[in-house]
Amino acid sequence: MAVRKIRIWPDPALKEVAKKVQTFNAELKSLVTDMFETMYKANGVGLAATQVAVPLRVITIDLDPNGQAKDEPDLKADLDSMGYKGPIAIINPELVAAEGELIWSEGCLSVPGINDEVERHETVTIKAFDPDGKVFTLTAHNLFAVAIQHEMDHLEGRVFVEYLSKLKRDVIRRKMERLKVESTDDGVEAAQIV
Ligand SMILES: [Zn+2]
Repeated sequence: MAVRKIRIWPDPALKEVAKKVQTFNAELKSLVTDMFETMYKANGVGLAATQVAVPLRVITIDLDPNGQAKDEPDLKADLDSMGYKGPIAIINPELVAAEGELIWSEGCLSVPGINDEVERHETVTIKAFDPDGKVFTLTAHNLFAVAIQHEMDHLEGRVFVEYLSKLKRDVIRRKMERLKVESTDDGVEAAQIV
């Protein structure tokens, strides 16, 4: 198990179109484990393998990363209504059906500190595989549907900021550049040497 490095937009790795997983082996399971670990450490609810520079069609989602639903019936009811049943790894997803629209203020672990509104389908049905290679079909609503669409975009090399205006995107790009300067690998290494 290992926490992997999340690429920050506009890192070129985020533009790569991910390839289908061909072999459901131990390497895939260890990628999935690492992705959950990386996502939890970063306080995210979704992660695509593209974000850790692995160009494979693998997504992890956990809409209740702190396990609050077991103590909060309202949250549990909300998650149930979205078709969400718990942490899930989604391999090689394909969109089977989509309907409705909703606007959600999205964030992304590859664009830290930025949230903005994106229009998505309210409901999506996907066909995908679990890490054992077992096929499943899933219908998701609301935030769960938004998370799936956001992560599936990553697999196509698309980040949500690309839906925003050029002006907003330029502002975000400058913020991300500053962030990179503040937290370069060199900086971390230097600190460790000290
Ligand atoms: Zn994202």
